[in-house]
Amino acid sequence: MAKILYGEPVAEALSAETAARAARLRARGVTPTLAIIRVGERPDDMSYERGAVKRCLALGIEVRKYALRADAAQAELMAAIDGVNRDDGIHGCLLLRPLPGQMDEHASCEALAAEKDVDCITAASLCGVFTGDKLRFAPCTARACIEILDYYGIAIAGKRVAVIGRSLVVGRPAAMLLLERDATVTICHSKTPDAPAICREADILIAASGRAGLVGSEYLRSGQTVIDVGINPGPDGGICGDVNFAEAEAVVGAITPVPRGVGSVTTAVLCRHVVEAAERAAGY
Ligand code: NAP
Repeated sequence: MAKILYGEPVAEALSAETAARAARLRARGVTPTLAIIRVGERPDDMSYERGAVKRCLALGIEVRKYALRADAAQAELMAAIDGVNRDDGIHGCLLLRPLPGQMDEHASCEALAAEKDVDCITAASLCGVFTGDKLRFAPCTARACIEILDYYGIAIAGKRVAVIGRSLVVGRPAAMLLLERDATVTICHSKTPDAPAICREADILIAASGRAGLVGSEYLRSGQTVIDVGINPGPDGGICGDVNFAEAEAVVGAITPVPRGVGSVTTAVLCRHVVEAAERAAGY
């Protein structure tokens, strides 16, 4: 049976360090602060926002919420982003996406000041992920995959990694972070012929397809580590991952569950990014 790689111990370890750094900042008169901009009330956004707010407050990070109506005009969103950019008391900003159809998502993301881009929504931040620029923040979920591997002592250097998914939010940046750590990475997508054969070869499999239960035993082999990034609607109203957990658990060496896997680590990484942004703004 596989070892279960729960997210919470990873999130707790990250959070302990972040809380100590936040306390140091506060002692010097700087309150690390995250702005959350939400347009409308999508249940996914509300749920992510609740998790982020809870963890931020527990770690001594202040949160300022900007909630716009679902039918808000682009100009209203741009005004909110501009306000965040101009406010020296705000160190990081989370813009919840996807935005409603009347909004220009690209223009909205690019409007955010790069130094406050704690979840890598600007081209400048993405460029940093590809060039290895340490001043830029990677997408929190992609970074969370690395944090989980590191916490559980799973070697990355020299390992063969298959990443299922090539989105700019998860798949591609995760591949770049793994490459930076000297893994040999193959990215699979919906047009990849025989993705299961590629995935079976891998020592580490990162599943980020957004397809519930896509990864079954034909993708897996014994000894593999599987990080299941997927958050998909489950059959009983809950959530499930991209991996068929029952099949995988019987085969692989280690696997993250869904829920209680990558998600909690993502918000812990977000908090660390906010504190780092605050440290940089304060000149530490
Ligand atoms: P996305 O933008 O829809 O991208 C999905 C990717 O998977 C695409 O590149 C797609 O290929 C590929 N794909 C789809 N079907 C495939 C198949 N049968 N075989 C191989 N590749 C396939 O999704 P995303 O934003 O990256 O998110 C992926 C999943 O992660 C979702 O379930 C999302 O909810 C979850 N997520 C979790 C967190 C977290 O904190 N845990 C954060 C963000 C996202 P093409 O490019 O060819 O279409």
